[in-house]
Amino acid sequence: MDAEQLKRAIRDVPDFPKAGILFKDITPVLSDPSLFGAAVDTLAARYAEKNVDKVAVIDARGFIFGSAVAYKLGAGLIPIRKKGKLPYKTYEQTYALEYGTATLSIHVDACEDGKRIALIDDLLATGGTAAASAKLIEQAGGEVVGIDFLIELAFLKGREKLTGYDVCSVVVFD
Ligand code: AMP
Repeated sequence: MDAEQLKRAIRDVPDFPKAGILFKDITPVLSDPSLFGAAVDTLAARYAEKNVDKVAVIDARGFIFGSAVAYKLGAGLIPIRKKGKLPYKTYEQTYALEYGTATLSIHVDACEDGKRIALIDDLLATGGTAAASAKLIEQAGGEVVGIDFLIELAFLKGREKLTGYDVCSVVVFD
């Protein structure tokens, strides 16, 4: 299995969720056991020797890949969720979107029993979501040992918002 096979399986959906956005639909990857397995294995592989305590996953598609990676690594899971969804005390980060803002949250005690955290999401676009999530992990006392995406839209230069972090993506669209 190579990244090209994964890349070919990702479906482009124009104008979703609004006009002008070319949405990268990962459901064809999820529905194929060998592709889904390869995606999870590739995301997990670089953490084999990194002693990760927990995998932080971003609401909502990050949950799908990141939870499988956490299971594979024998690590715990930290959900980073949209504002208002986590039940206990939270830290929050608000960041800019193309139009308006969004707020993500993490439980204040998320990193108390394990500090080495890998952060996983499905897709890196402009980088705001991942940058806010990394800040949340640090606010909660964790160390971000790596940030991983299944897909990177390199032309949006999201990596520039993640300077200083060890960033990896499985499939890159230039
Ligand atoms: P950003 O903060 O711009 O890097 O956006 C990343 C977040 O938005 C990820 O959680 C993605 O799931 C979602 N996202 C942004 N752009 C797309 C796209 N073109 N296709 C699918 N998901 C996207």
